Amino acid sequence: MDLKDLYREVILDHNRSPRNFGTLQPADAQANGHNPLCGDRLHLTLRLDGDRLTDVRFQGQGCAISVASASLMSEAVKGKSRAEVDSLYGQVHALLTGRPSSGAADLGKLAALGGVAEFPARVKCASLCWHTLEAALAQAPTRHSRTAGGGAAGEPPESNGSAADTNHTGQSPATVSTE
Ligand code: ZN
Repeated sequence: MDLKDLYREVILDHNRSPRNFGTLQPADAQANGHNPLCGDRLHLTLRLDGDRLTDVRFQGQGCAISVASASLMSEAVKGKSRAEVDSLYGQVHALLTGRPSSGAADLGKLAALGGVAEFPARVKCASLCWHTLEAALAQAPTRHSRTAGGGAAGEPPESNGSAADTNHTGQSPATVSTE
């Protein structure tokens, strides 16, 4: 089994049995994501302890890539601080756009998404969950700092879609669209 087969197995497995699927109630923050190009939809809820993400759940429907990516992300970000999440997102983004950074070795199972770089149309499927997570974190109560780049790759180019007008009343979750 070569690396490609292994990665394919990881994607298929996470699509078949997504981890952290569901909704947290109550949640400290939440956001909806939509990728109109493919029809992927995602609802993300999370819990925070200060600056740290203690729990993440997602729900939604979409293609195998979008579901597997959200599942992999939910495992990867749990227990991480916002800065660590930002830095991880930078690495994943670099991986998805075919510019893996030197720190890509820390990606663990997320590295399975590397094959997506060969299919530019699917990059948004894989990055939807990350945009949604960023939107949820942006409206989270504790600290309101905008992602000033956790180091690696500054603001990703296609994030102009995060028109998450954080006009939060507490009831309506931020909505991001990758368009
Ligand atoms: Zn998709």
